[in-house]
Amino acid sequence: MIAENYQDVEKKVQKACEKSKRERSEVTLIAVSKTKPVQMIREAMAAGAEHFGENKVQELCEKYEVLPQNLHWHMIGHLQRNKVKYVVEKAELIHSVDSLRLAEEISREAVKKNVQVRILIEVNVAEEESKFGVSTEDAESLIRKASVLPNICICGLMTIAPYVENAEENRPIFRALKKLAVDIKKKNIDNVSMDVLSMGMTGDYEVAIEEGATMVRVGTGIFGERNYAL
Ligand SMILES: *Cc1c(COP(=O)(O)O)cnc(C)c1O
Repeated sequence: MIAENYQDVEKKVQKACEKSKRERSEVTLIAVSKTKPVQMIREAMAAGAEHFGENKVQELCEKYEVLPQNLHWHMIGHLQRNKVKYVVEKAELIHSVDSLRLAEEISREAVKKNVQVRILIEVNVAEEESKFGVSTEDAESLIRKASVLPNICICGLMTIAPYVENAEENRPIFRALKKLAVDIKKKNIDNVSMDVLSMGMTGDYEVAIEEGATMVRVGTGIFGERNYAL
């Protein structure tokens, strides 16, 4: 079931790339495995998945320990500063940096462990009150301040678009994040690349790819509905 789902999503990613005249290699498909058991991750791996996304540090660490070392782990959820030390060496990219204090903590741990940590700045483009993320207006200022911190590299932007019935409704959100990335790139800030745009989930990843996503985060479409009551 999971293998079929994964291949189905993969085909749709390919189609969206073709439609927007982009290379398939420009888009990384992240299988969001939060709340799902290791066995399901293994099924997705068998179908070709190599990138996995988790939103809780403890869960990411537990899965990291028991699964093969060649996987790529993405921290996509809100990150508390006291958990940073557990995740800097395990996550290949932290998608959810939305404050200077968090960036400073990541930098501090990265220096301590002598590693370079790649991060994205999470932007609350839709200005939903329930969501984390810096506002579009404040993004550049945060990026400038974080860019001078040692041992972190700001690789781009991430957003979580609202839940909508019709994916087209989120097109302006994705377009706005892309525009923000282009605007910031033009400023040529040291240590800031804006090469990564993490946007699009199960309901809207094809539209996100059409608007320039380089990473899509797909959970339900691969692993099925999540049951938080368990
Ligand atoms: C859970 C989650 C996803 C995946 O959502 P689906 O709708 O299940 O694809 C993507 N991004 C973030 C940040 C998430 O927390």
